[in-house]
Amino acid sequence: MKVLKFGGTSVGTVESLRHVKRIVEECEEQVIVVVSALGGITDLLIKTAHQASTGDITYMQNYAKIVERHINVINGIVPQEKITTVRTKIDMLLEELGNIYRGVSLIKDLSSRTLDIIVSYGERMSSTIVSNIIENATLFDSREFIKTESQFNKHVLQAELTERLIKETFGSFTGKVALVPGFISTDAKANDITNLGRGGSDYTAALICAALDASQLEIWTDVDGFMTADPRVISTAYVIDKLTFIEAMELCNFGAKVVYPPTIYPVFQKNIPILIKNTFNSSAPGTLISDEHGNIEGKAIKGISSINDTCLITLTGFGMVGVIGVNSRIFAALARNGISVFLVSQASSEHNTSFAVKNCDAEEAVKVLKDEFSAELLTGEISDITPEKDLATVAIVGENMKHTPGIAGKLFNTLGRNGINVIACAQGASETNISFVIDSRSLRKALNVIHDSFFLSETQVLNLFVVGVGNVGKNLLSQIHHQQEDLLKNKALELRIVGIANSKKCVFNRDGINIENYQEALEKSELVATPENIRNGVIDMNIFNSVFVDCTASADIADIYGSLIEHNVNVVAANKIAASSCYNNYTYLKNMTHKKGVKFLFETNVGAGLPIINTINSLIATGDKIIKIEAVLSGTLNYIFNTISPEIPLSKAIKMAQEAGYSEPDPRIDLCGKDVARKIVILAREAGYKVEQEDVVRNLFIPTEFFEGTLDDFFKNVEGMDVEFEELRKGAADKNEHLRFVARMDEGAVSIGLESVDQTHPFYTLAGSNNVILITTERYNEYPMVIKGYGAGAEVTAAGIFSDIISIANVR
Ligand code: ADP
Ligand code: ASP
Ligand code: MG
Repeated sequence: MKVLKFGGTSVGTVESLRHVKRIVEECEEQVIVVVSALGGITDLLIKTAHQASTGDITYMQNYAKIVERHINVINGIVPQEKITTVRTKIDMLLEELGNIYRGVSLIKDLSSRTLDIIVSYGERMSSTIVSNIIENATLFDSREFIKTESQFNKHVLQAELTERLIKETFGSFTGKVALVPGFISTDAKANDITNLGRGGSDYTAALICAALDASQLEIWTDVDGFMTADPRVISTAYVIDKLTFIEAMELCNFGAKVVYPPTIYPVFQKNIPILIKNTFNSSAPGTLISDEHGNIEGKAIKGISSINDTCLITLTGFGMVGVIGVNSRIFAALARNGISVFLVSQASSEHNTSFAVKNCDAEEAVKVLKDEFSAELLTGEISDITPEKDLATVAIVGENMKHTPGIAGKLFNTLGRNGINVIACAQGASETNISFVIDSRSLRKALNVIHDSFFLSETQVLNLFVVGVGNVGKNLLSQIHHQQEDLLKNKALELRIVGIANSKKCVFNRDGINIENYQEALEKSELVATPENIRNGVIDMNIFNSVFVDCTASADIADIYGSLIEHNVNVVAANKIAASSCYNNYTYLKNMTHKKGVKFLFETNVGAGLPIINTINSLIATGDKIIKIEAVLSGTLNYIFNTISPEIPLSKAIKMAQEAGYSEPDPRIDLCGKDVARKIVILAREAGYKVEQEDVVRNLFIPTEFFEGTLDDFFKNVEGMDVEFEELRKGAADKNEHLRFVARMDEGAVSIGLESVDQTHPFYTLAGSNNVILITTERYNEYPMVIKGYGAGAEVTAAGIFSDIISIANVR
C-alpha cells in the first residue's frame, strides 16, 4: 500500500484534477489519497474570516469567490450522474460556512476556535469533491482519527492515540482507494475541530503512512522535486534526485516549503521512503528521500533554505560566564511559554548567548526572559536582553559536509566578498547543517551568491551594469551578446546585464535586460541618468557578483566608484579618470578593493586591448622590478605622424584622425598630451611609483595657448603651424628618422614629448594608430619586453573590457 498526498497546487483547478484522477487510477496497488484544500482556498478562508470580524461587509465578495471556485471545479470535472449529489453536499457545507461568517461579522469577534472551524471547510469540501472524481474511492473523515491536544494555545499531535485510531480505521479497509482530507483533526478531549498547522496535509499523509507501514509516501506538488533552493528566489535552482531523511529534515526545518517539517519524522522512524513528484509532469523522476547516503563524491552541500522571519535575542552579561544552568533556564522558560527556538549561538567565552525565534514571538520571549532573570538583571549579572528584528536565517545542508573541510571558510568568504554581514551562526556537531543569521534585506543576495559559489547551479552568474553606450559600450554589448551562449556552454558563465545607462536615461532590471532591446528599454525608462541615480540603482539592487562597467569618459561617473566598491561592487573602467586622478584617490580605491574582496580593473586605460597593465602586475607579483617604461601610447598622435607628408600638412592630418574616429571627439585632448600623460601616470603607478599628473614633464609640439578658445580657433591656429611642422618632418625624414610622441618613465620620473627616432629604434616602424611599450625590468634588462599592436579603436577596447569582466569570474 502507498500513501499519495496531493497539495493545494495539485487540486486547485479542473486541469490539475484531471492529472490527479489519472495518477491515482493508474496505481496498481491499494492507495490512500490525502488531499489539501483547493489551492489558495485556506488563505482565502482566513482572510475572509478576519475581514468579517472587523464588520467589513466586503467579506461577502470573498465568500462568493470561495463558492465560485468550488462550483466551477464540480461543474468542470465531476461526472454528470454525480453532480447533483456532490452539489447538495458542497452547498450544505458552503451554507454552513456562510452562516459562520455572518455570525463572525455580527459579533465582530473571531476566536482561534472559530477560525479553526472555518479553515476546516477547505479540506472538507476538497476531499468530498475529489472522492467523487476518482473511481472506487471511499471517503474517510480524518477528524475521527487524527487527534491533537492543546499545549500553549497550540494544537499538538497525540501521537499514540492517532496511530491506534488510524490502524483501527483502515485495518479492515479492503477497497482500492481511500480518500482522506489532510490538515484537519480534532481535539482528543473536547472534540473541537483543530488542525496540524499550515501546510499540515503532508503531515496527515506521513502519519497514516507510518501507522499502516505503507511502502512509500508520495508527495505530489507543482515542482519536479525537492530543489537545491526555493525556485521562486533562485531561477537556476534544480531538482535534487536523492536526499537523506536528515538532509530533508534540515532543509524543511529551515523553510523549504515543499514539505511541512514534522512530516519527515514519522516515516523516518519506520524507514519508509518519501518520493516528491510533480502532478503536472508525472514522468519526471522526482526526489527520493530515504536513508541512503548517496554518492560521497557528490557535492558537499545539497541544498539551501531560509526563513525570512527571524528575530535574534541576545542575553549578555559577565554573570553568565562559567555559571552552570543559565542556558537550561533560558530554554526552559521559553519552552514553558510555547516559544520555539530554531537557532542557538554561544561564544565559548559564555559572555553572551543568542538565539533565533520568529518575529511574532520576540516580544513575548523578551518578557519571559526578563521575568526569569529579573534578579540577575537587578544585580547586573545579566546586563541586557535585546531583540534584533527583521533578520533572516539561512541554512546550507548536506551530509557530505562531514567529509569536506573548508566549507565554512568558503561560505563566509563568499558572503564577505559580497558585503553580507553574518550576525550569528551555528553549526551542529553532526556537520550536516551550517546556519547563520543576516539582515533580511540581504537574503535574496545571500541565497543567490551561495547557490552560485557552491556550484549548486550549473552556471556562475556575473551581474553587469554597463554605463555609456557610445562606440565602445555598444561594441561591448554586441560582443557580450555574441559570446553569451558560448560562455554559458563552455565556461558555465552567465553574463547578465542588469543595468544600462546612456547619457540621458538609465534602466535597471534584476532579471536581466535583453541586449537586443536595450535601446527600447532605455527609451521607455523614466529614470534620468544622473550619477546619483546610477549609483543608487546599483547599490539598491544589492545583487550578488555585481560588476559596474564604465564605458564613459565622465569624471562624475568616475566619482562614484569609491562608493560602489564600498558596497562590494566590482568596477571595470575604460574611463581613465579614476586611475589617473590624485594618487590618494587611486590608492583609496585600490585599498578598498582589497578590503572588500572585489576588483577594480582598468586594463583598457592604456593601449586599449593590449595586455600592458596585466603584464606589469604579473611581473611585479612574481618578484620583478619595473625600472623603465618607454612607450608610444597615443594611437591618434601616431596616426597623425604617420600621415603627414609633403601633401598632407599637420592641420589636415589632425582632421583626418578626427574623421576616422581615432582621436577623441575633441582632438585637442590628444594633442595637448593630456591623454598620454594620464596613461604614463597610470603605468608608473601600476609599476609601483607614487606619481601625480603634475609630475609629468611635457615637451609639447603645439604651443599651450592654442588649446584655449574654440575648436575652430584651434584649427585656424594649427594651420599657421603647417609650414614649420613640415620642416620638422622633412628634417627628420632627411636623416631617415620618424617623429614619435614618446612617454617615458624612468624609476618614477615621468615625461612625455616629441622625439625623432632612427631606423634602429623599436619605435621606428610603428604603423597606423598602433601603440608600442618597452618595459625594462630587472629580469628583462638588456632586452626589454615589447608589447605592440592596435592601441585604439572601439572593437579592441571593448574586447579589453570584456576580458577584464571575464577575469572577475575566475573562469579562465
Ligand atoms: P503544495 O500545495 O503542493 O503543498 P507548497 O506550496 O506547499 O505546495 O510547496 C511547493 C512549493 O514550494 C513550490 O511551488 C516551490 O515554489 C516551493 N519551494 C520552496 N523551496 C523549495 C525547494 N527547495 N524545492 C522545491 N520547491 C520549493
Ligand atoms: N490547506 C492547508 C494550508 O494551506 C494545508 C495544506 O495545504 O497542506 O495550509
Ligand atoms: Mg504544502
